[in-house]
Amino acid sequence: MTPINQPHTVVWPEADGEWGVGSKVGGRGDPIGLGVLIRRDGLHAVAVNLDGDVLEDSYRMRPLGPEQPVPVEQVVDGIGALVAELLDRWPSDRGEVVVGLGVAVWGHVNLAGEVVESPALGWRQVRLPELLTAATGIDDVLVHHDVSALALAEQSFGVGRERSSFAVVTCRWGLGCSLVLHNELVRGDDGAAAELGHVVFDPDGPDCSCGNRGCLEMLATPKAVVERVRGAGLAHVESPLEVVDLARAGDETALAALRSAETMLGRGLALLTNLVNPGLVVLYGQPEVLGAEPYREATLTALRRSSFPTRHCDVVIKPNADQMAARGVASEVLQLVAEPSPARSGLGSR
Ligand SMILES: [Zn+2]
Repeated sequence: MTPINQPHTVVWPEADGEWGVGSKVGGRGDPIGLGVLIRRDGLHAVAVNLDGDVLEDSYRMRPLGPEQPVPVEQVVDGIGALVAELLDRWPSDRGEVVVGLGVAVWGHVNLAGEVVESPALGWRQVRLPELLTAATGIDDVLVHHDVSALALAEQSFGVGRERSSFAVVTCRWGLGCSLVLHNELVRGDDGAAAELGHVVFDPDGPDCSCGNRGCLEMLATPKAVVERVRGAGLAHVESPLEVVDLARAGDETALAALRSAETMLGRGLALLTNLVNPGLVVLYGQPEVLGAEPYREATLTALRRSSFPTRHCDVVIKPNADQMAARGVASEVLQLVAEPSPARSGLGSR
């Protein structure tokens, strides 16, 4: 098995007119990368070309069962089935060839692509690359943390085309972060860099799944807003949008919860700004919540007040993180395999 972070040569198949995996099947044609996002509730798959374009009607979802931990073999078999479906349905005269599979997954993924721990899936030390190669026949499998996959997407066909340094922050039920500095994805010693969501901001705050208390994701997320208003007597509230609606109607509890969460989010972004000066944060979440007032203004005010005075950081809010993550990791594996270069080879997972 060729390590994907080493430059290597792809051998194209001889025959024309078939769509297939690597050199096993098919004809000479444009290389295609597949990407799969593993979520707690399902698998999202996408196929992209070298420009990062999502190819027609190739975005799929395959729901997972309710078990916790999610059985590894169920996910591996599900990805194998998704890949087989994509290959079966593709027009045989197009001649594209699948050269790699990228996978984005919640949790700590080390530099070898092993899932060290994923609390959401209940996984520890799962060697996905080897399992997925066996299930799909695709030799080059790249596994990344899901927020790193978003950063790779932004780098390839988003804000990264114009910026060499930026941060991606996801703020939904959890708070994830990934950094691109000087055109390089920051992965750290063991793939666990930029864990902004688990910086402790209030040692007396709510218990976190990581074992600490008062981590940023327990204070700044829409989930934290819902839990705060439920704890303050609004037990019927189930979604962050309900809290926004209540705040707009003048409910003081909802207003206070939103202002508190967004002040904490702004301080978290200021921490990034003071440490690594990203210049831009792409904030993935629900725009109707993160962009609502007073949510948005409280974030920006706290960001300004907590940042070193000469630092500036723009914030843009984006929805639809799932397809973007799958697209990012698909594009990354495709570029690593089809266009290996020293500049990009260091980004590989194994
Ligand atoms: Zn934590």
